[in-house]
Amino acid sequence: MAIIISGKKLAAEIQEELKIEAGILRESGCVPSLTVVLVGEDPASQIYVRAKTNAAERLGIRSQTIRLPVDTTEKELLEVLDRLNNDPALHGILVQLPLPTQIDPLRVTYSVSLDKDVDGFHPVNRGKLVAGEKSFVPCTPLAVQQMLLRSGFDPDGQHVVIVGRSMIVGTPLASMLTQKAPGANATVTVCHTGTRHLADLTRQADILIAAVGRPEAIKGNMVKDGVVVIDVGVNRVEDTSEKGYKLVGDVAFDEIAEKAKAISPVPGGVGPMTITMLLKNTIFAAKNLSRQ
Ligand code: NAP
Repeated sequence: MAIIISGKKLAAEIQEELKIEAGILRESGCVPSLTVVLVGEDPASQIYVRAKTNAAERLGIRSQTIRLPVDTTEKELLEVLDRLNNDPALHGILVQLPLPTQIDPLRVTYSVSLDKDVDGFHPVNRGKLVAGEKSFVPCTPLAVQQMLLRSGFDPDGQHVVIVGRSMIVGTPLASMLTQKAPGANATVTVCHTGTRHLADLTRQADILIAAVGRPEAIKGNMVKDGVVVIDVGVNRVEDTSEKGYKLVGDVAFDEIAEKAKAISPVPGGVGPMTITMLLKNTIFAAKNLSRQ
């Protein structure tokens, strides 16, 4: 049976480390802070935002949520961001996605200060990641890398197959893992809907990362024995429980766990680690800004 790579357990460990770092910053007179901007009342976004700000508070990171009505104009949102960018007491800033349709998300990501961009979505930070320069790295790819490293599965020299090329998971993760750098240096194949013979490629993976957004899309016959699997997917599927649904990942967990050396579960895998990487980026922002 495969080793379970528990994101929940790793997140708790890393949060203890971050708590110490936050304490040191506070003692030096810098109270690390995270500001989340939430436009509208999307129920899932409200849950995510609460999870982020609650986790921040537990670590001694001051957090606030700026709530704006669903009919906020792009200009109004950009004015709010301008004020937050220029407030020296604020460190991490993120705008919760998705945004209402009248607002262009790209213009918004361009408008978060480069030094406060804890989601790592600013196109300049994305470019720095590709160039191998120190920058904010998007939280989910950082979570995947940390889960591998802290479980003893260094990607160095491994064939990593990533299924999914989104700008928040697959593409930045591929940039990270191909770097000639510690914790990376992998040979990376990125698959998507244009990929022919997907299973032929996934079967070659030493490490398989699934970020597809389709319940249990990767089946047991699509991986080789001894593969290490990180499942990024979070999908709701109907069941007979009281809630009426359960969460499943992008891989068929039971089938793959029989063949894999290690696998991350859903829930309790990448999700808690993603929030933890947001807090890590917030501490990074506070440290850098307090030195300026
Ligand atoms: P996305 O933007 O919808 O991207 C999905 C990617 O998968 C696309 O590149 C798509 O290809 C590819 N794809 C879809 N169906 C495919 C198929 N049948 N064969 C091969 N490739 C296929 O999704 P995302 O934002 O990256 O998220 C992926 C999953 O991760 C979702 O379940 C999401 O909820 C989850 N997620 C979890 C966390 C977390 O913290 N746990 C964070 C972010 C995302 P094309 O580019 O060709 O369309």
